[in-house]
Amino acid sequence: MIIMDYQKIGLRVGLEIHHELNTNEKLFCSCPTLLKTKEKPDSTIIRHHIPVAGETGKIDVAVVEEIKKRKKIIYEIYDDCDCLVDTDSEPPHRPNQEALKIALTIAELFHCSIFDEIQVMRKTIVDGSLPSGFQRTMLIGTDGWVETSMGKVEIEAVTLEEDSGRLIRKDNDSATFRLDRLGTPEVEIGTGKGIASPEHAREAAKAIGDIIRSTGKAKIREGSVRQDVNISIQGGDRVEGKHVPSLSLIPVVIEKEIKRQQELVKRGKKVSRDVRRVLPDGSTEFLRPLPGAARMYPETDVIPIRTDRLLKEARKNLPESLKEIIKRCQKLGLSEDLAKQLANSGHMELFGKFVKMFKVDPVLVAGVFVNTLRDLERREKLDVNQLSEKDFGELFELLSKGKVIKESIGDVLKIKLENEGLSITNCVEKLGLTPISENELKRMVKEIASKNKGAPKGKIIGLVMAKVRGKADPKAVMRIVEEMSQ
Ligand SMILES: [Zn+2]
Repeated sequence: MIIMDYQKIGLRVGLEIHHELNTNEKLFCSCPTLLKTKEKPDSTIIRHHIPVAGETGKIDVAVVEEIKKRKKIIYEIYDDCDCLVDTDSEPPHRPNQEALKIALTIAELFHCSIFDEIQVMRKTIVDGSLPSGFQRTMLIGTDGWVETSMGKVEIEAVTLEEDSGRLIRKDNDSATFRLDRLGTPEVEIGTGKGIASPEHAREAAKAIGDIIRSTGKAKIREGSVRQDVNISIQGGDRVEGKHVPSLSLIPVVIEKEIKRQQELVKRGKKVSRDVRRVLPDGSTEFLRPLPGAARMYPETDVIPIRTDRLLKEARKNLPESLKEIIKRCQKLGLSEDLAKQLANSGHMELFGKFVKMFKVDPVLVAGVFVNTLRDLERREKLDVNQLSEKDFGELFELLSKGKVIKESIGDVLKIKLENEGLSITNCVEKLGLTPISENELKRMVKEIASKNKGAPKGKIIGLVMAKVRGKADPKAVMRIVEEMSQ
């Protein structure tokens, strides 16, 4: 095996980690930050994009390239999560204060210098994913760092921006974007110097993600994290690998890009400054030229934001580190693994609240937030983000009062997600999952036992369970059968 000397080849790696924030409302309007799973939008808009000169007076090379393709862009609009701001028919509202506070908290956790005043900028976006043709972005802090096993990695910038629309379909002459996701606040963390190797880049990306999630305000859903990686070697040039889908693929993408650039340099060819799409095997293909500085200009519809008051609040409420959270959860009986998953689930705050509020087993509550929600999402393809704090509160209250048993939690939440108007209590009733009393259970065991005289205990338990599934704790059934057979 050849071990590559990354310093010798002049490897430079920069990460851009995008992470959506879990606020109720979007960044520049009051629409909810939900994703729509239904196929049919309430309305559609068709637009063609026209190039506009940026701050420098020049039209960006990437813009020109994209305009050449002259694509028809179709936007799918959903009335309950899009408004006139999203379709660029109304100026942006005052920026979401909660999102600003989370972004300030994150900048603080990365030890950044934070600006007294934030100016909203417009960044030209060429792929059609925003109806306005630009993305609003705010530089929150610069010159920070994150600790890794190989020393500090510089955090060049923490930015707060609006997320773009979701690409749903693409063919030769059109691209379709769904606007539900558009406007969701997201932070972008850009690294500077300090990444020494491809493997180190993976570690730095993980450390950055851990810090963002430690706020408990990171959105956890498919596509909520996106990572781009910039790579160059001596004699080559900066190339951006767009959307690396997982942490483990980061070193693979870097290794492959090093080889590609080395190959070009060896053949005496120039490495062009490109944005390259990352493919599932970690190799890349040309997407478009790398945009230059020409694509930023000020957003004049939003006045600059003073940060002093929000920053003060953010500093007062800095979150615990991941290590502290895990330690606290372990004291409540959670395994280290469950604690880690809970900390990364974005539900830490609700967990703490419900464990304090109701007499419920913390391991059970954590299990619902980690395992039950994941199963509903993966197996049932349901959008668990539709579940509110009130829904969870109702569920854990019913559990603590013995009005629903833990074995039925998954079913109750499934029915809730499939029937928008129903409350959790309604769902328990609808499913007929109201637990049966101890006396009723005893009566049933007696009846089944007398009908099956001489049957082994296991069979009796099986027959009772078949009748009371979801309405009685299996342990209680076993105990009663045991007691009666003595
Ligand atoms: Zn809106």
